[in-house]
Amino acid sequence: MSVLERIRPDLAGFVPYASARRAGHRAGIRLDANEAPWLQAGDGSGLNRYPSPQPSDLLAALAGLYGVRAGQVYAGRGSDEAIDLLVRLFCRAGRDNVVTLAPTFGMYQVAASLQGVALRRLALDPEQDFALDPQRLLDLVDDDTRLVFLCSPNNPTGTDFHARVEPLARALAGRALLVVDEAYVEFAGHEGAAGLLDRHENLAILRTLSKLHALAGARVGALLAAEPLVARIAAIAAPYPLPAPSVAAALAALAPPALARTLALRDGLLAERERLRAALAALPGIDRVWPSAGNFLLMRCHDAAATFARALAGDVLLRDVSGQPGLAGCLRASIGTRADNGALLAALAVGVPA
Ligand SMILES: *Cc1c(COP(=O)(O)O)cnc(C)c1O
Repeated sequence: MSVLERIRPDLAGFVPYASARRAGHRAGIRLDANEAPWLQAGDGSGLNRYPSPQPSDLLAALAGLYGVRAGQVYAGRGSDEAIDLLVRLFCRAGRDNVVTLAPTFGMYQVAASLQGVALRRLALDPEQDFALDPQRLLDLVDDDTRLVFLCSPNNPTGTDFHARVEPLARALAGRALLVVDEAYVEFAGHEGAAGLLDRHENLAILRTLSKLHALAGARVGALLAAEPLVARIAAIAAPYPLPAPSVAAALAALAPPALARTLALRDGLLAERERLRAALAALPGIDRVWPSAGNFLLMRCHDAAATFARALAGDVLLRDVSGQPGLAGCLRASIGTRADNGALLAALAVGVPA
């Protein structure tokens, strides 16, 4: 059975909004979309016009970046939008369920709650370095499971589950869509799971320009999947999900010189990650810093509130994740510049008995 048969049956005949730009006609004088015929003061880029729903140059650039075909890319308003669209497309409210890990990224819960579907979570054990037992994850899957979200590298633990992706996709074939959220995969030292798409039609991958590509403010993310699934997602998406300035920023970031700079900066950040990890682990108030395949570190403190406050007193904001399952006492730190990381270490060293 194709995973397309797991899409909500009531959406089978779904008719997308017939936006002016979706029709794809070209003409010099465009009186089809009730736009202003003049430019706003100072606008040199034509923001009076609605953007293309899925700009072909952006799709081509993302396809090139991720090593897939343009038809396998849905470009949207961050991967957050794609998470929401997947849950809406596949899950019947009050009936279906979604499976994921705990702790993990909070948006799967948000999207599931909004759609009225249950989220089942496999608890990962911090004492086992958050290792994943695939069989225990599969044990949570039943006939009403439509989606399995696997965040890899996982936020906030930093754990890389890449080796589990293909066996899980195979085990879920005909049952559920495996959605691998690879927001941080560029920091993991491998290419991610995009190369598996042609072998597993029940696999979808989330990528984003928000992290490595330094465009969190532009809100550009991608869903990579088989062409028919991408078409179904595009059909239920907002008519114009991508603001034109964001598309321009994305294209600029993916041009070869910018991309080369990004990759060089990444190498420096990866070195900083290991330096910061060793330095944090040596601080007396911190009893554990897990290895990380992302651009962040998870640490367990003797007193998370005190450590958080000490960092803040040094003008450094950390993420308190101590309320998440299994993460009592834990804080998450993004890897900043060398100076940022130095400020964090200096702040945490203050007032701690040696
Ligand atoms: C930051 C993050 C994203 C990125 O979301 P965008 O909407 O693309 O900014 C996706 N997944 C995870 C796990 C993240 O941590």
